[in-house]
Amino acid sequence: MGFEKFGRKSFTAFTKTAKFVDFLLEGKIQGTVCKDCGAKYFPPRVDCAKCLSKNMDWFEMPGKGKLETFTTAYYAPLGFETDPPYTMGVVDFGGGLKLFARLAKDLKPEEIKVGLDVSVRPLKYEDGQISFEVIKA
Ligand SMILES: [Zn+2]
Repeated sequence: MGFEKFGRKSFTAFTKTAKFVDFLLEGKIQGTVCKDCGAKYFPPRVDCAKCLSKNMDWFEMPGKGKLETFTTAYYAPLGFETDPPYTMGVVDFGGGLKLFARLAKDLKPEEIKVGLDVSVRPLKYEDGQISFEVIKA
């Protein structure tokens, strides 16, 4: 399985780690960790942005993080016109690992608040594309 299966449109050239998509299809949320300096990335990266090492390994994302901030978009860029409104947020998993991602559509606006315990799960679109989304933990 190649990287073309990830996301709604091809917009994440820096995460060209095809195995990531296989993991998502298996229901696993895997990031990459630098074997040299320990920096963690999700979505995964093939090169470490901190020390530029290519010596990376996979790790399973923590099951729980805290929603640090969020916003709702009522207008979307080209390719995402039919998606709004949708809410995006920053999740802090601790140890410097943060994720900016969309929140699941089934999360009610009144449930979404800073400090909420959240998790990440794979998301399969109707057209067969796959991504991930933030859900209530
Ligand atoms: Zn590194």
